[in-house]
Parts: sequence; structure tokens; C-alpha cells
Amino acid sequence: MATNGWNLQNTYLGLPEIFYCNQKPSLAPAPKMVIFNQILAGELGLDGGFLESSPEIFAGNVLPVGACPISQAYAGYQFGHFAMLGDGRAVLLGEQITPKGQRFDIQLKGSGSTPYSRRGDGLASLLPMLREYIISEAMYALGIPTTRSLAVVLTGGKVVRETVLPGAVLTRVATSHIRIGTFNFAAAYGSKEDLAALANYTIWRHFPWLEDAKDKYLLFFREVVKLKAELIAKWQLIGFVHGVMNTDNGAISGETIDYGPCAFMDVYDQNTVFSSIDTGGRYAYKNQPSIGAWNLARLAESLCPLFHHNQEESIIMAQKEIEGYWGVYKKNWMQGMRAKLGLINQEESDESLILELLDLMKSHKLDYTNTFRVLSFVNSDKPSLPGGGCWLERWIARLGKQPINVNKACEIMQANNPAVIPRNYWVEEALYAASEGDVTVMEDLLRALSNPFKDSEKYAYVPEGCGCGYRTFCGT
Ligand code: AMP
Ligand code: MG
Repeated sequence: MATNGWNLQNTYLGLPEIFYCNQKPSLAPAPKMVIFNQILAGELGLDGGFLESSPEIFAGNVLPVGACPISQAYAGYQFGHFAMLGDGRAVLLGEQITPKGQRFDIQLKGSGSTPYSRRGDGLASLLPMLREYIISEAMYALGIPTTRSLAVVLTGGKVVRETVLPGAVLTRVATSHIRIGTFNFAAAYGSKEDLAALANYTIWRHFPWLEDAKDKYLLFFREVVKLKAELIAKWQLIGFVHGVMNTDNGAISGETIDYGPCAFMDVYDQNTVFSSIDTGGRYAYKNQPSIGAWNLARLAESLCPLFHHNQEESIIMAQKEIEGYWGVYKKNWMQGMRAKLGLINQEESDESLILELLDLMKSHKLDYTNTFRVLSFVNSDKPSLPGGGCWLERWIARLGKQPINVNKACEIMQANNPAVIPRNYWVEEALYAASEGDVTVMEDLLRALSNPFKDSEKYAYVPEGCGCGYRTFCGT
């Protein structure tokens, strides 16, 4: 029997049964491929040529060889409040072992209701799935840890939201779908043995070098703290607003996951919020680093029974680890900002130089991405920075105080300041065309996004006033 490159294992089924339920995807009436990621298929060792014309597999109608479909249980703190959740509209087919021996979850999202669906219909509509495809692939090309997108298919069925929409399934690829919320679930509903089983499994999967360590659970937590601090620093540096940083939407692997109401900032403003439901701005751009720490505290609470048999001791141990978060975050953010400004050595005044530039962007309503990109060509074109004459002089003088010439500094900047990001305006344009049956606009955008440090006249252009008031929605 042809495997078409599928090489699936199902190690998650080795966990205690509370962590999942066996769940077949629902039958889709008329599956049709909308977009397929040939490059990713190749990396996964899949026969992309065959699979691109097999929408029935990515709709869940035909299971790949070796698949044992399950839905995963998890809980989460949603806008601060604990809730039992789980895969309400997703099915994990299995873990693909690639030709290089890496392990990736293959998950169908939008494939019908599950025991965790609560009041939801288990479905997804086309445009949000295409949006996740575009933004996750853009994040990947930008070098930001993320889940990836292998395919989007139309199911042929309808999804009822405010209007009736075409149903779709996204195939998501992740190093795992273990979330902070999976630990919140284990701590709330499982025994200490269940919690330890999940922690051991996660260590085996993501941090195998810790398996025999003496304080392995504490060291595991330390690794997650570090990964989260690094990830959120990258989000801030690129101007990405996740939009719904509930603990169920935080992967233990340190990958960005659950692209719901996320979007990229155009004009720099720390208060940027896109999500229509985030009226209090809890998940605003400026709050992402502190929410990261808050979420880690919820993870620590869940893990505490494993840190030490004495609860007070474990809390002290956890607190010490969480304190490490800010150091890692700040170091990564400063390093990233220095690279964005072409600085390879450190001076005490660098932080104020950076903050003053951000203030300038805010007060003159400058585009975050394009401002840095323009600065990256200071060797050939004197940048025009509205209101920033003094700042420019200070920065150029600072560039002169390092052991590399300005051409080299510009090379560093051009490799750290993208020319192309998935701007809301262009993403919407691609989605609108797709809704009319034309995916070529999206394919063109994806091509540009796959090479984000190459200039693009079209996609660097920000149509007047397009960033203001942009709204995004969850659970669509
Ligand atoms: P999200 O806001 O997408 O992170 O989802 C939060 C929770 O709601 C998760 O448990 C999802 O599985 C669940 N969920 C979201 N949309 C649906 C839907 N249409 N049907 C069932 N469950 C859903
Ligand atoms: Mg989610």
C-alpha cells in the first residue's frame, strides 16, 4: 500500500486517557483543495505531488496510513479566568517523523465537533483559515518560531456565523500542540501521576537532555520561561500583536500558535489592539511581555506539585525562575533592537536612543516596519525621518563609534528589518480575492512574504489611513 510519505506515530496516546479522546474527523461533503504548501510537504517527507490532488485527506474524509485521530484535552485562563476547553474543532492525526528524524504534529482544524466543542459547531470558515495560513507562513519566513500551515481545503459544507460562509479545514503542523493550558488542565482535573506523566512526556519530546537531570521539572520550567521570553521579544521587535494570549493559546514549545485575532502593527503605537473582544486592551502590544510572565506564573502554579513536596518551597523555587524571565526578555529585546539599528557593540545610552526613536514614531504616526527599513539604507540615501533630524544625527554619530563601517551596519539592518510583513491591507486584499475564487493574489502575497528581507514596491506600500481602526475577530 502506498504511504505517500506518511510516517506517522501516535505517542500522545501513551499518556493517561484523561488527556485526549479518540475522535474521527467529520465527513466533508465535497472537499476541494484551495492551497497546498509544497515546500513544507517536502520537508515533512510527504509526496506533495500526490497529496495536492487529494483534498479528501486534508478534509479528514480519508485518513493517512498510520493515523489514530484524537482531540486533545486542555484548559486555559481566558482573559484571566479559568475554563475547561480542549480541541473543540480540531483533530490530531498523528506525529509525522520527517526524513531528518524530526517529529511534527499533523492537525486538522475545522474538522467537526468533538466532546470538547461545548456550544461550538466544530467548524471553521474559509477566510480565517487562509488568514492563519498566510500569517503563520510569514512568521516562519521572518524567523519567528511558529506552527506552520500545510493545506487549506474547502469542505463543500456551510458554516453559519453572522452570515452563511464556506466551511474549510486547515492542516496545521507543530512540534507539538502541548499548551500551558494542557498543564492547567492536568493540575485541575488530573492526579499528581497524570501531571508527572504529561511533564515527562513533554520533556521527552521537547527537552530530552533533561530526562535524567536531578531537578528536571524545575529545569523544564526554566526552559519554557526562556523560550517564552525569547518568543515575545521577537513579537515586539517585529510589531506582531497576538491578540488572544490566553494560556490555552501558548505552546510549551515556544512556537506562536492559534492565529485568531492577531495582526501586525502599521503605525507604531504601544496601545495597539486589533481584537474586537479585547475592549480592555489586556492583550495590547505593550502588554504582551507582562502577559507572558503572567501566563508563566499560571504554568508554575500547575507544575508546583512536581517542584517540591513542600508547597511553600515550590512556590519560592517557581518565583525565582519567573524572575529570570525579564532578564532574558530584556536581553533579547535589546539585542534585537541594536541589530535593527545596525549596532554591534553596546553603549549605555543605546536604550534611550531606541526609546526616543519609538517615541518619534508614535508622535509622528510613522509606520513601524518601513521606518526601520528606510534607516537600513543610510549608506546610500539619507533617511527622511519626520521630526527626527536630531535623532538621526545622534544615531549616525553612534554608528561611527563601532569597529565596522556603515556599509556593514546597513547589511545587518537590512537582514533584521523586513521589507515585507503580512500587512492587514494586503492580507485583506488576498482574502477578498480568495473569497471570489481567485487564489492568485494570495499566492503572490505568499511569494513576497517567503522572502521578507527583499524589497517589494507593492507590499511595502501602506495605503493612506489603512491601519487605523482595523478590527480582527476570534473563533471564526
Ligand atoms: P480559540 O479562541 O480559537 O483559541 O478557541 C478557544 C476554545 O474554543 C478552544 O477550546 C477551541 O477548540 C474552541 N473553539 C473555537 N471555535 C470553535 C468552534 N467553532 N467549535 C467548537 N469549538 C471551538
Ligand atoms: Mg485556541
